[in-house]
Amino acid sequence: MDDLTDLFQRAAAHAAAYRASLDEAPVGVPPDLAALRSALAGDGLADASRSPGDVLAELVAAATPGLVATAGPRYFGFVVGSSLPAAAAADMMTSAWDQNAFNGVLSPAAVVAEEVAGGWLKELLGIPATASVGFVTGAQEANTVALAAARQHVLATAGWDVARDGLHGAPRVRVVVGGERHATVDRALRLLGLGTASVEPVAVDGNGAIDVADLERVLASAPAGPTIVCLQAGNVNTGACDDLRAACDLAHRHNAWVHVDGAFGLWAAATPALRHLVDGVELADSWGCDGHKWLNVPYDCGFVFCSRPEVHGAAVSYTAAYLVGTTGVAAGTSDFTLESSRRARGFAVWAALRQLGRDGVSELVERNCRLARRFAESLTAGGAEVANDVVLNQVLVGFGADDRTDRVIDRVQRDGTCWLGGTTWGGRRLMRISVSSWSTTEADVDRSVAAILRAAAD
Ligand SMILES: *Cc1c(COP(=O)(O)O)cnc(C)c1O
Repeated sequence: MDDLTDLFQRAAAHAAAYRASLDEAPVGVPPDLAALRSALAGDGLADASRSPGDVLAELVAAATPGLVATAGPRYFGFVVGSSLPAAAAADMMTSAWDQNAFNGVLSPAAVVAEEVAGGWLKELLGIPATASVGFVTGAQEANTVALAAARQHVLATAGWDVARDGLHGAPRVRVVVGGERHATVDRALRLLGLGTASVEPVAVDGNGAIDVADLERVLASAPAGPTIVCLQAGNVNTGACDDLRAACDLAHRHNAWVHVDGAFGLWAAATPALRHLVDGVELADSWGCDGHKWLNVPYDCGFVFCSRPEVHGAAVSYTAAYLVGTTGVAAGTSDFTLESSRRARGFAVWAALRQLGRDGVSELVERNCRLARRFAESLTAGGAEVANDVVLNQVLVGFGADDRTDRVIDRVQRDGTCWLGGTTWGGRRLMRISVSSWSTTEADVDRSVAAILRAAAD
């Protein structure tokens, strides 16, 4: 066996052994950072080279104690999927093939995989087939690119070319967005030179969805001008989805661009039982969604869609002398992302969608939501208080006073049966549970509920 084959087989064996350990491994126990640092730092950057096989063995030994079982069935922190077997294997191939998805000259296979998977994503998410698709790093980049397209369009409509003239002297852009938006929207506004002070917040209901009457009030409160409305499908704490149909209709009557941050909530469109939560999604102008959350593909992977491909391209594409003159190649989606050289994310997305099929995606989303309700019902029966309307896969739980809730969260995290975090919602500290993994079963939920109630008992 040659050296490379041996090396890759050893890597695959380590990967398989790790995955097989996840069902019983403690989930996210506090790490010994000093030990991790010394294991990885060793005696410092060495002068001498080492064999790849030794490096692999060293890496696995040094890193393993600091790994968190996010790829397992009982990790309920943040909003974290665990990569599907076909997607993880495809991602290993992506590394081995080492393709650059920048354009069709660099990798026809990478570009066509994105083209095909992008079409499937639009079908599943209820986005018009004519929309452009960019395969990005995640919802942060998706929101940034989409808001760049929005900025481009609303200023062009006001007679201003922001790509050429920037924002110096430009008409003011209004950004109308719900009070419970994700923080990545604010970062995008900072990066785009619009600034967070451009935000005109819209009131939200108890679950964090915008109040459409208040949206109307905010839109009418200033003279017509370049306006972006940013909606949300899936609040990161509660899972709440804005009323997309009513809000899009209203925003369009005010000539606003509508962006939907649907990092995970957009997946409600992929299942008949939950599609009503994102009714009207097709009416928006741009959409952001994650792959590495609910689609359960490896990090880093997200999607940005735009109903006006030419605006999308005008906002973020570029050209250079060395890039023109090749004919007969697939165009690729790099005109729609912020990166030039880029990981070939389409392979893992293609593989996840092939493994699941339409039925599998629907089953995954519905099961996770059903399991979230199971958490809510079992914890309520055990004396805890569920503080949100469990519309999707997110559950907020209180155990009395804030310090008591924080103590319960801390105990659960140290126990290792499952992992979940805390948040502040409605001025209270709450335990935050997100069910987003393909591998989570009823038994996992029941084991986790028992661990949580044990932690709350003493
Ligand atoms: C997670 C999330 C984001 C950010 O996504 P990344 O993939 O971490 O960049 C943005 N918006 C919402 C609603 C999210 O849940």
